[in-house]
Amino acid sequence: MISATGLRKSYGDFEAVRGIDVEVCAGEVFALLGPNGAGKTTTVEILEGYRPRSAGEVSVLGSDPAEITRRWRERVGIVLQECRLTPELTVREAVARYAGYYPGPRDVDETVALVGLEAKADARTSRLSGGQQRRLDVALALVGDPELLFLDEPTTGFDPSARRQAWEVLGSLRDLGKTVILTTHYMEEAQALADRVAILAAGRIVAEGPPDQLGDSEQRATRISFTLPPGADAADLPAGLRARARIDGDRVSIPAEDPLPALDELTSWATTRGAGLPGLEVRRPSLEDVYLELADAHAGDRDGEEPA
Ligand code: ATP
Repeated sequence: MISATGLRKSYGDFEAVRGIDVEVCAGEVFALLGPNGAGKTTTVEILEGYRPRSAGEVSVLGSDPAEITRRWRERVGIVLQECRLTPELTVREAVARYAGYYPGPRDVDETVALVGLEAKADARTSRLSGGQQRRLDVALALVGDPELLFLDEPTTGFDPSARRQAWEVLGSLRDLGKTVILTTHYMEEAQALADRVAILAAGRIVAEGPPDQLGDSEQRATRISFTLPPGADAADLPAGLRARARIDGDRVSIPAEDPLPALDELTSWATTRGAGLPGLEVRRPSLEDVYLELADAHAGDRDGEEPA
Protein backbone atom coordinates (compact mmCIF):
# COMPACT_ATOMS: atom_id res chain seq x y z
CA MET A 1 0.00 0.00 0.00
CA ILE A 2 2.85 2.35 0.90
CA SER A 3 6.51 2.24 0.10
CA ALA A 4 8.98 5.04 0.79
CA THR A 5 12.74 4.94 0.53
CA GLY A 6 15.19 7.67 1.41
CA LEU A 7 12.35 10.13 2.05
CA ARG A 8 13.62 13.60 2.90
CA LYS A 9 12.02 16.99 3.45
CA SER A 10 13.74 20.29 4.05
CA TYR A 11 12.17 23.59 5.01
CA GLY A 12 14.84 26.05 3.89
CA ASP A 13 18.07 24.96 5.60
CA PHE A 14 16.22 22.82 8.12
CA GLU A 15 15.90 19.15 7.29
CA ALA A 16 12.73 17.96 9.06
CA VAL A 17 12.71 14.43 7.57
CA ARG A 18 16.14 12.91 7.08
CA GLY A 19 15.96 9.70 5.10
CA ILE A 20 12.97 7.55 6.04
CA ASP A 21 12.27 4.06 4.68
CA VAL A 22 8.76 2.71 5.26
CA GLU A 23 6.71 -0.19 3.90
CA VAL A 24 3.07 -0.68 4.87
CA CYS A 25 1.09 -3.71 3.69
CA ALA A 26 -2.63 -3.99 2.91
CA GLY A 27 -4.77 -4.45 6.03
CA GLU A 28 -2.08 -3.21 8.41
CA VAL A 29 -2.55 -0.58 11.10
CA PHE A 30 0.74 1.31 11.21
CA ALA A 31 1.42 3.97 13.85
CA LEU A 32 3.97 6.75 13.62
CA LEU A 33 5.10 7.90 17.05
CA GLY A 34 7.58 10.49 18.16
CA PRO A 35 8.06 13.67 20.13
CA ASN A 36 6.78 17.07 18.96
CA GLY A 37 8.65 18.19 15.88
CA ALA A 38 9.98 14.70 15.04
CA GLY A 39 8.55 14.89 11.51
CA LYS A 40 5.39 12.78 11.75
CA THR A 41 2.95 15.24 10.19
CA THR A 42 5.48 16.17 7.51
CA THR A 43 5.91 12.50 6.60
CA VAL A 44 2.19 11.76 6.64
CA GLU A 45 1.34 14.84 4.57
CA ILE A 46 3.90 13.82 1.94
CA LEU A 47 2.28 10.37 1.78
CA GLU A 48 -1.16 12.01 1.54
CA GLY A 49 -0.02 14.12 -1.41
CA TYR A 50 -0.40 17.40 0.48
CA ARG A 51 3.28 18.27 0.76
CA PRO A 52 6.10 17.96 -1.80
CA ARG A 53 9.16 16.01 -0.72
CA SER A 54 12.77 17.10 -1.18
CA ALA A 55 14.15 13.65 -2.03
CA GLY A 56 13.38 9.95 -2.03
CA GLU A 57 11.09 7.49 -3.77
CA VAL A 58 7.47 7.23 -2.63
CA SER A 59 4.63 5.06 -3.83
CA VAL A 60 1.16 5.08 -2.25
CA LEU A 61 -1.49 2.78 -3.74
CA GLY A 62 0.88 2.31 -6.65
CA SER A 63 1.20 6.02 -7.48
CA ASP A 64 3.58 8.79 -6.60
CA PRO A 65 1.57 11.03 -4.25
CA ALA A 66 3.25 14.06 -5.85
CA GLU A 67 1.36 13.27 -9.08
CA ILE A 68 -2.00 12.03 -7.86
CA THR A 69 -5.30 11.88 -9.67
CA ARG A 70 -8.88 12.28 -8.52
CA ARG A 71 -9.30 8.50 -8.67
CA TRP A 72 -6.39 8.15 -6.20
CA ARG A 73 -7.99 10.65 -3.82
CA GLU A 74 -11.20 8.61 -3.87
CA ARG A 75 -9.29 5.60 -2.54
CA VAL A 76 -7.84 7.49 0.41
CA GLY A 77 -9.59 8.77 3.55
CA ILE A 78 -8.01 11.41 5.73
CA VAL A 79 -8.73 12.61 9.26
CA LEU A 80 -6.75 15.80 9.71
CA GLN A 81 -5.66 17.17 13.09
CA GLU A 82 -8.45 19.71 12.85
CA CYS A 83 -11.50 19.58 10.67
CA ARG A 84 -14.02 22.39 10.17
CA LEU A 85 -17.47 21.56 8.87
CA THR A 86 -20.45 23.55 7.76
CA PRO A 87 -22.09 24.04 11.19
CA GLU A 88 -25.70 24.14 9.99
CA LEU A 89 -25.59 20.59 8.59
CA THR A 90 -26.79 17.69 10.70
CA VAL A 91 -24.52 14.71 11.22
CA ARG A 92 -26.44 12.65 8.64
CA GLU A 93 -26.43 15.53 6.14
CA ALA A 94 -22.69 16.07 6.55
CA VAL A 95 -21.96 12.39 6.01
CA ALA A 96 -24.36 12.29 3.02
CA ARG A 97 -22.66 15.33 1.50
CA TYR A 98 -19.26 13.67 1.71
CA ALA A 99 -20.73 10.43 0.36
CA GLY A 100 -21.77 12.42 -2.73
CA TYR A 101 -18.13 13.16 -3.52
CA TYR A 102 -17.28 9.48 -4.05
CA PRO A 103 -18.22 6.99 -6.78
CA GLY A 104 -18.88 4.01 -4.48
CA PRO A 105 -19.69 5.37 -1.01
CA ARG A 106 -20.73 3.36 2.02
CA ASP A 107 -24.30 3.56 3.27
CA VAL A 108 -24.72 6.85 5.16
CA ASP A 109 -26.71 5.55 8.15
CA GLU A 110 -24.48 2.52 8.47
CA THR A 111 -21.42 4.79 8.57
CA VAL A 112 -23.04 7.02 11.20
CA ALA A 113 -23.76 3.87 13.25
CA LEU A 114 -20.21 2.56 12.79
CA VAL A 115 -18.82 5.57 14.66
CA GLY A 116 -21.56 5.38 17.31
CA LEU A 117 -23.36 8.59 16.36
CA GLU A 118 -26.87 7.15 15.65
CA ALA A 119 -28.37 9.12 18.54
CA LYS A 120 -26.87 12.32 17.11
CA ALA A 121 -27.72 11.68 13.45
CA ASP A 122 -30.17 14.60 13.36
CA ALA A 123 -28.13 16.95 15.56
CA ARG A 124 -26.36 19.91 13.98
CA THR A 125 -22.63 19.38 13.76
CA SER A 126 -22.08 22.65 15.65
CA ARG A 127 -23.80 21.06 18.66
CA LEU A 128 -21.50 18.08 18.94
CA SER A 129 -19.00 17.69 21.76
CA GLY A 130 -15.30 17.54 20.88
CA GLY A 131 -15.26 13.75 21.05
CA GLN A 132 -18.43 13.42 18.96
CA GLN A 133 -16.94 15.82 16.43
CA ARG A 134 -13.87 13.62 16.11
CA ARG A 135 -16.10 10.57 15.55
CA LEU A 136 -17.81 12.51 12.80
CA ASP A 137 -14.38 13.24 11.30
CA VAL A 138 -13.77 9.49 11.19
CA ALA A 139 -17.20 8.92 9.61
CA LEU A 140 -16.41 11.49 6.91
CA ALA A 141 -13.10 9.80 6.19
CA LEU A 142 -14.84 6.41 5.99
CA VAL A 143 -17.94 7.18 3.97
CA GLY A 144 -16.08 7.10 0.65
CA ASP A 145 -15.12 3.50 1.52
CA PRO A 146 -11.39 4.19 1.15
CA GLU A 147 -8.79 1.43 1.06
CA LEU A 148 -6.30 3.54 2.93
CA LEU A 149 -6.97 5.83 5.89
CA PHE A 150 -4.71 8.45 7.41
CA LEU A 151 -5.63 9.38 10.98
CA ASP A 152 -3.59 12.24 12.42
CA GLU A 153 -3.98 12.22 16.21
CA PRO A 154 -7.59 11.01 15.96
CA THR A 155 -8.33 11.02 19.71
CA THR A 156 -6.58 14.17 20.89
CA GLY A 157 -8.84 15.93 23.39
CA PHE A 158 -11.00 12.87 24.10
CA ASP A 159 -11.94 11.94 27.63
CA PRO A 160 -10.75 8.44 28.63
CA SER A 161 -14.07 6.73 27.96
CA ALA A 162 -14.54 8.47 24.60
CA ARG A 163 -11.02 7.35 23.71
CA ARG A 164 -11.87 3.73 24.51
CA GLN A 165 -14.99 4.01 22.36
CA ALA A 166 -12.97 5.53 19.54
CA TRP A 167 -10.55 2.61 19.77
CA GLU A 168 -13.48 0.29 19.17
CA VAL A 169 -14.36 2.26 16.06
CA LEU A 170 -10.76 2.26 14.88
CA GLY A 171 -10.49 -1.45 15.69
CA SER A 172 -13.51 -2.09 13.49
CA LEU A 173 -11.61 -0.50 10.59
CA ARG A 174 -9.19 -3.37 10.78
CA ASP A 175 -12.12 -5.80 10.63
CA LEU A 176 -13.21 -3.99 7.47
CA GLY A 177 -9.75 -4.77 6.02
CA LYS A 178 -8.68 -1.12 5.82
CA THR A 179 -5.07 -0.07 5.88
CA VAL A 180 -4.58 2.65 8.48
CA ILE A 181 -1.73 5.08 9.09
CA LEU A 182 -2.08 6.56 12.53
CA THR A 183 -0.14 9.25 14.33
CA THR A 184 -0.65 9.57 18.04
CA HIS A 185 0.96 10.77 21.26
CA TYR A 186 -0.92 8.12 23.26
CA MET A 187 1.25 5.04 23.60
CA GLU A 188 -1.67 3.02 24.93
CA GLU A 189 -3.52 3.86 21.74
CA ALA A 190 -0.68 2.60 19.56
CA GLN A 191 -0.36 -0.50 21.73
CA ALA A 192 -4.10 -1.19 21.46
CA LEU A 193 -4.51 -0.52 17.76
CA ALA A 194 -1.30 -0.85 15.80
CA ASP A 195 0.12 -3.97 14.19
CA ARG A 196 3.40 -2.11 13.76
CA VAL A 197 4.80 1.14 15.04
CA ALA A 198 7.70 3.29 13.96
CA ILE A 199 9.29 5.77 16.33
CA LEU A 200 10.53 8.94 14.71
CA ALA A 201 13.11 11.13 16.40
CA ALA A 202 14.62 14.22 14.78
CA GLY A 203 13.47 13.17 11.31
CA ARG A 204 14.66 9.56 11.40
CA ILE A 205 13.06 6.23 12.29
CA VAL A 206 14.91 5.02 15.38
CA ALA A 207 12.86 1.86 16.02
CA GLU A 208 10.23 -0.09 14.15
CA GLY A 209 8.26 -3.25 14.83
CA PRO A 210 5.18 -4.71 16.52
CA PRO A 211 4.42 -2.70 19.69
CA ASP A 212 5.43 -5.52 22.04
CA GLN A 213 8.70 -6.22 20.23
CA LEU A 214 10.07 -2.72 20.09
CA GLY A 215 13.45 -1.89 21.58
CA ASP A 216 16.37 -4.17 22.40
CA SER A 217 16.20 -7.16 24.73
CA GLU A 218 17.19 -5.08 27.73
CA GLN A 219 14.53 -2.46 27.00
CA ARG A 220 11.91 -5.22 26.62
CA ALA A 221 12.99 -7.17 29.72
CA THR A 222 10.51 -7.66 32.55
CA ARG A 223 11.24 -5.41 35.55
CA ILE A 224 11.10 -6.84 39.04
CA SER A 225 10.95 -4.02 41.55
CA PHE A 226 10.55 -3.84 45.30
CA THR A 227 11.52 -1.77 48.33
CA LEU A 228 14.41 -3.03 50.43
CA PRO A 229 12.96 -4.52 53.63
CA PRO A 230 13.77 -2.68 56.87
CA GLY A 231 17.34 -3.38 57.97
CA ALA A 232 18.42 -4.65 54.53
CA ASP A 233 21.00 -2.98 52.36
CA ALA A 234 21.42 -3.30 48.57
CA ALA A 235 24.83 -4.83 49.28
CA ASP A 236 23.06 -7.74 51.00
CA LEU A 237 21.25 -8.82 47.83
CA PRO A 238 22.38 -12.09 46.18
CA ALA A 239 25.45 -11.26 44.08
CA GLY A 240 23.92 -12.22 40.69
CA LEU A 241 20.94 -9.95 41.24
CA ARG A 242 22.94 -7.13 42.81
CA ALA A 243 25.09 -6.89 39.68
CA ARG A 244 22.02 -6.22 37.49
CA ALA A 245 20.00 -4.15 39.94
CA ARG A 246 19.25 -0.48 39.49
CA ILE A 247 18.98 1.12 42.89
CA ASP A 248 17.20 4.37 43.58
CA GLY A 249 17.17 5.12 47.32
CA ASP A 250 15.62 1.99 48.85
CA ARG A 251 13.78 1.04 45.65
CA VAL A 252 15.38 -1.76 43.66
CA SER A 253 14.61 -2.64 40.05
CA ILE A 254 16.00 -5.74 38.37
CA PRO A 255 15.58 -6.32 34.63
CA ALA A 256 15.12 -9.99 33.72
CA GLU A 257 14.32 -11.56 30.36
CA ASP A 258 12.97 -14.57 32.26
CA PRO A 259 11.80 -13.30 35.66
CA LEU A 260 11.15 -16.70 37.29
CA PRO A 261 14.73 -17.65 38.34
CA ALA A 262 15.34 -14.11 39.64
CA LEU A 263 12.06 -14.16 41.57
CA ASP A 264 12.92 -17.57 42.99
CA GLU A 265 16.29 -16.32 44.21
CA LEU A 266 14.79 -13.13 45.56
CA THR A 267 11.96 -14.75 47.50
CA SER A 268 14.40 -17.31 49.01
CA TRP A 269 16.64 -14.40 50.05
CA ALA A 270 13.73 -12.55 51.65
CA THR A 271 12.36 -15.69 53.37
CA THR A 272 15.78 -16.60 54.79
CA ARG A 273 16.03 -13.12 56.26
CA GLY A 274 12.50 -13.42 57.65
CA ALA A 275 11.55 -10.30 55.73
CA GLY A 276 9.06 -9.58 53.00
CA LEU A 277 9.55 -7.77 49.72
CA PRO A 278 7.46 -4.63 50.23
CA GLY A 279 5.87 -3.14 47.12
CA LEU A 280 6.88 -6.12 44.95
CA GLU A 281 5.96 -5.56 41.31
CA VAL A 282 6.68 -7.71 38.28
CA ARG A 283 5.93 -5.79 35.13
CA ARG A 284 6.70 -6.06 31.47
CA PRO A 285 7.66 -2.64 30.14
CA SER A 286 4.84 -0.97 28.25
CA LEU A 287 5.28 0.60 24.85
CA GLU A 288 5.43 3.90 26.74
CA ASP A 289 8.43 2.73 28.81
CA VAL A 290 10.30 1.63 25.68
CA TYR A 291 9.27 4.79 23.83
CA LEU A 292 10.54 7.04 26.61
CA GLU A 293 13.89 5.25 26.71
CA LEU A 294 14.29 5.49 22.95
CA ALA A 295 13.17 9.12 22.80
CA ASP A 296 15.59 9.92 25.61
CA ALA A 297 18.47 8.13 23.89
CA HIS A 298 17.83 10.12 20.69
CA ALA A 299 16.96 13.47 22.27
CA GLY A 300 20.26 15.06 21.18
CA ASP A 301 20.33 13.59 17.65
CA ARG A 302 20.12 16.92 15.87
CA ASP A 303 22.84 18.57 17.89
CA GLY A 304 25.55 15.95 17.71
CA GLU A 305 27.24 14.00 14.97
CA GLU A 306 25.10 12.25 12.38
CA PRO A 307 24.29 8.80 13.79
CA ALA A 308 25.59 5.83 11.81
P1 ATP B 1 3.87 17.21 16.49
O1 ATP B 1 3.93 15.98 17.33
O2 ATP B 1 4.15 18.44 17.30
O3 ATP B 1 2.62 17.30 15.64
P2 ATP B 1 5.47 16.34 14.19
O4 ATP B 1 6.30 15.15 14.52
O5 ATP B 1 4.22 16.10 13.44
O6 ATP B 1 5.18 17.16 15.51
P3 ATP B 1 6.19 18.13 12.03
O7 ATP B 1 4.96 18.96 12.08
O8 ATP B 1 6.33 17.18 10.89
O9 ATP B 1 6.42 17.34 13.41
O10 ATP B 1 7.45 19.12 12.05
C1 ATP B 1 8.78 18.64 11.96
C2 ATP B 1 9.73 19.83 12.01
O11 ATP B 1 9.59 20.62 10.81
C3 ATP B 1 9.47 20.77 13.18
O12 ATP B 1 10.71 21.23 13.67
C4 ATP B 1 8.69 21.92 12.55
O13 ATP B 1 8.97 23.14 13.22
C5 ATP B 1 9.23 21.96 11.14
N1 ATP B 1 8.20 22.41 10.18
C6 ATP B 1 7.01 21.80 9.96
N2 ATP B 1 6.33 22.45 9.00
C7 ATP B 1 7.10 23.51 8.61
C8 ATP B 1 6.96 24.56 7.65
N3 ATP B 1 5.87 24.65 6.88
N4 ATP B 1 7.96 25.43 7.54
C9 ATP B 1 9.09 25.34 8.29
N5 ATP B 1 9.29 24.37 9.21
C10 ATP B 1 8.32 23.46 9.38
